[in-house]
Amino acid sequence: LNFHEMGLDDRLLKAIAQLGWAKPTLIQERAIPLALEGKDLLARARTGSGKTAAFAIPLIQRILISKQTATEQSIKALILTPSKELSNQASHHIQVCSLHRKNSKISTVLEIFPAMPLLIEKPDIIVGTPSRVLAHIQAKNIYLKESLEMLVIDEADLLFSFGYENDVKTLLRHLPKIFQAFLMSATLSNEVETLKKLVLHNPVILKL
Ligand code: AMP
Repeated sequence: LNFHEMGLDDRLLKAIAQLGWAKPTLIQERAIPLALEGKDLLARARTGSGKTAAFAIPLIQRILISKQTATEQSIKALILTPSKELSNQASHHIQVCSLHRKNSKISTVLEIFPAMPLLIEKPDIIVGTPSRVLAHIQAKNIYLKESLEMLVIDEADLLFSFGYENDVKTLLRHLPKIFQAFLMSATLSNEVETLKKLVLHNPVILKL
């Protein structure tokens, strides 16, 4: 299966072509079609496997095809990572795949202040560590309860060991009842099993 056969939006295909990606990596080939069907996923995948684009592509596709005007724009996707550095990397990756998207923005929330850019830009994708995102929710800079459609937890196995367990649990209470979720993890540890139970519904498990 190549990118063209996945039924992706032309703007996304154009961005992929510009990146020079001739074909999907193994995880992308497996994960993207399932994600586009609306499935929850638990993917065991290492850095270098192309895992970021494996969740970024379906996420952007969904935002591209959702009918929305600039004024009713709201946060559709939340990506949690265990560190600022990983948030920056994921954010950069998504920006690159979003090249041809007009009127849509992604914000990386690394600091609690300033909140102004967040509120002015009205991002549709937010990337950050659980504690930063939670701080923004508690400061009422962002509101996810109604608009959020997708949650990604990247490097899920590191999240609990980096001390984010309580923040993740609190954060989940600020999310809608129903959303699509992807867990990306290098290993399938007990912590990942706990997260799986907390956020995934009948997930497809990809062990690559
Ligand atoms: P990741 O595993 O997400 O950290 O990605 C590792 C690297 O692979 C990144 O630098 C991506 O730009 C690159 N990459 C992702 N998908 C593809 C693809 N389909 N073809 C070639 N390179 C890719």
